[in-house]
Amino acid sequence: MDHFLYRNGSLHAEDVPVSEIAAAVGTPFYCYSSATLERHFRLFQEALAPLPNLVCFAVKSNSNQAVLRLLGSLGAGMDVVSGGEYLRAKAAGVPGDRIVFSGVGKTRAEMRQALAGGVRQFNVESEPELVALSEVAAGMGLVAPIAVRVNPDVDARTHEKIATGKSENKFGIPIARARQVYAQAAGLPGIEVVGIDVHIGSQLTELDPFRQAFAKVEELTRALRQDGHDIRRLDLGGGLGIPYERSNSAPPLPIEYGRMIQETLGHLDCEIEIEPGRLISGNAGILVSEVIYVKDGEGRDFLIIDAAMNDLMRPSLYGAHHDIIPVLEAAPGTARRPLDVVGPVCETGDTFARQRDLPEGLSPGDLVAFRSAGAYGAVMASEYNTRPLVPEVLVSGDQFAVIRPRPTFDEIINRDTIPPWL
Ligand SMILES: *Cc1c(COP(=O)(O)O)cnc(C)c1O
Repeated sequence: MDHFLYRNGSLHAEDVPVSEIAAAVGTPFYCYSSATLERHFRLFQEALAPLPNLVCFAVKSNSNQAVLRLLGSLGAGMDVVSGGEYLRAKAAGVPGDRIVFSGVGKTRAEMRQALAGGVRQFNVESEPELVALSEVAAGMGLVAPIAVRVNPDVDARTHEKIATGKSENKFGIPIARARQVYAQAAGLPGIEVVGIDVHIGSQLTELDPFRQAFAKVEELTRALRQDGHDIRRLDLGGGLGIPYERSNSAPPLPIEYGRMIQETLGHLDCEIEIEPGRLISGNAGILVSEVIYVKDGEGRDFLIIDAAMNDLMRPSLYGAHHDIIPVLEAAPGTARRPLDVVGPVCETGDTFARQRDLPEGLSPGDLVAFRSAGAYGAVMASEYNTRPLVPEVLVSGDQFAVIRPRPTFDEIINRDTIPPWL
């Protein structure tokens, strides 16, 4: 459930008509619902409530300061994958001891920054990283708390570009080598082992791959404890999928996911960390765009809108589906017509949907909304074609605020500098 619903035929974000925001902000823009963000976060908290837990929001899915502030104020931890995201989490008021640092390519500068500012744990993805982290921490007179990210070699059965738990992926350490790596970690002066980390991919639509991975983590926990390691936290990553197509998909609910975690790992007396991104922010956001032209082509017709691949990359990057709905609800019984929904960018890849059934009668000036655009939307946006970075708006009840304004063309152009010899 989200909070983008029609009222009297007009799409609302909570209690605010989307058309009212469009009139104030201009299109295209992202619009997020506070109530939906909060609801999704609490679903995970409730699902894990029987176990000691920390729900760490995956900042890479939506890193706006207002979103992080909202979730942080509810008690969320943060999962960050870069020094920049670490600073964003801190700037939003999240204390270091609720920030988990993930990622395959942490630099020494990033390690230093997080150690100085406080960090809950580093999820270490390779032996060279472990050695580097130990050196950095010891050099600062500190000890870095770590979990080793293990790669359980399970098939997440998701899109190949977002599967991370197969042995051929670049992520983590093969689980078969984990005991060796933990032994190495225990001997390093700047390292304190606190747990195990696993993250097998994103947009998973069934529990079984998680269950397989967590069973391997359970086995590993017992083996590592036998080896004398103090395994007290299990970080299970993110990855639970969302229903991008309302009509035909129903991924597992957080409560079912939580129950499965209790079944597979609940007896180990560990603190459970999870890192959901998409399930918290995905359906909490829409991208609103205006129709520029309806173009009759040879054999297919086009809806040309003012949002483009630079604003929402997922369709061109992953072939992803987003439901597209008119902001003014079509009258019951309105005929439908297949349209290719495209942006103005000079790339054939700038196509949001092919032959999408949309209500007859959409015309220039009408508004449409892309559902499920709150995760991996604004964060991936660029200014390709010198299209200003798409603004973001947050709604709460009957109020809304611009939480990232659209830059002016002067701001964009003046970011470049001309060298003195030109
Ligand atoms: C991307 C990522 C997540 C979040 O994944 P979602 O599918 O958005 O839940 C969590 N942890 C790590 C390490 C990631 O790379």
